[in-house]
Amino acid sequence: MTRILHRQIHATLRTAVGGKGVELFDRDGRRYIDASGGAAVSCLGHGHPDVIAALHAQADALAYAHTSFFTSDVAEALAERLVADAPAGLDYVYFVSGGSEAVEAALKMARQYFVEVGQPQRARIIARRQSYHGNTLGALAAGGNAWRRAQFKPLLAETHHIDPCYAYRYREAGETEADYGLRAAQALEDKILELGPETVMAFVAEPVVGATAGAVPAVAGYFRRIREICDRYGVLLLLDEVMCGMGRTGTLHACEQDGVVPDLMTVAKGLGGGYQPIGATFLSGRIYEAFAKGSGLFQHGHTYICHPMACAAALAVQEVIARDRLLDNVQAMGAHLARRLGERFGNHPHVGDIRGRGLFMGVELVEDRGSKAAFDPARKLNARIKHAAMDRGLAVYPAGGTIDGIRGDHILLAPPFIIDAATVDTVVERLGEAVDAAI
Ligand code: PMP
Repeated sequence: MTRILHRQIHATLRTAVGGKGVELFDRDGRRYIDASGGAAVSCLGHGHPDVIAALHAQADALAYAHTSFFTSDVAEALAERLVADAPAGLDYVYFVSGGSEAVEAALKMARQYFVEVGQPQRARIIARRQSYHGNTLGALAAGGNAWRRAQFKPLLAETHHIDPCYAYRYREAGETEADYGLRAAQALEDKILELGPETVMAFVAEPVVGATAGAVPAVAGYFRRIREICDRYGVLLLLDEVMCGMGRTGTLHACEQDGVVPDLMTVAKGLGGGYQPIGATFLSGRIYEAFAKGSGLFQHGHTYICHPMACAAALAVQEVIARDRLLDNVQAMGAHLARRLGERFGNHPHVGDIRGRGLFMGVELVEDRGSKAAFDPARKLNARIKHAAMDRGLAVYPAGGTIDGIRGDHILLAPPFIIDAATVDTVVERLGEAVDAAI
């Protein structure tokens, strides 16, 4: 019996007791390949000696000091490193404890920015339908996933959502990719004009959509067009890289591959690799200057911002990724994973699409390949696949069901960056067996 309020109230959770490299171990002695890194978190795998050593050293030196009184060397060093490696213009960073907090902070930075520069009427947020930006009330409001929002309404009144939500063509054919990208982006301009540009503060989007869709990238050109539209109307662009960022797609930040620099960018998950809870919001020099010249204060904060233990974990994780050239491995193993998924599922009657970037891949399951019809959600296919996979020593992140009128089950794969080719092969083999057993 558990005294914890778990997310799934009646879930029969297995008890994890250990982990090493890409594997997790449970209390009954079973081993699992952690093929989704939890939820795209464990980028270095488990039990990494260098991160553990850094955590021990930091705990010995200083576990906590409140930011009203002190900064710390470790937080400053992490900020230096992250800003040096961030897209040019994202000159400052704010450390929080996770993804939702990072999005929440970004939304409040956008809001305060417009207050500081004398445009307080800019309070509206535009995001994409069927997106996920976190579970705190502001971040939940920004996300357009109707199922997650339903019981918590009314949320922030000034959040608006557009379609097509992903700028991805699997279910939209008949145009060139470039035309489709322009049409998808046009939805943003239409919405800005409908609401009145002088009332809109930010557009929020994930470069590669994670949990709600299964690693869906946008077509080429879409985000460049989005950037132009934001600039034309003075709207801030907030890219949420909580799931797809920090190396997951093969470049440190996913937006590098889309050729855009946002005004605000959120990261979390892979930043600390699961060794400590940490998230971060990057902000442009322009936003920072507005605060500095204005009230001189960002009017937001949490007890655990810049937590030294969290910063120590993140710094160690990022140093290992650079030292061991793990982004090269993400690219190589990402290509290998895509190839293997294609071989195993390319002609599978119930796999409609395989997509993603780097070690961030989604497999979309369909009742019928031709019509792309989704499975009846009552079948709870995603839960069945999860259990079938765990019975075969594989932990994957399945999601889907009927959400907001968009039906589709998918499996998200986001293994640790240290994975090798033989383990990728085993992941695909076990996943194939689990999918066939569950369907
Ligand atoms: N944004 C995105 C894109 C996410 O995928 C998530 C988590 N799945 C969040 C925000 C929220 O992060 P957290 O769960 O750490 O609060």
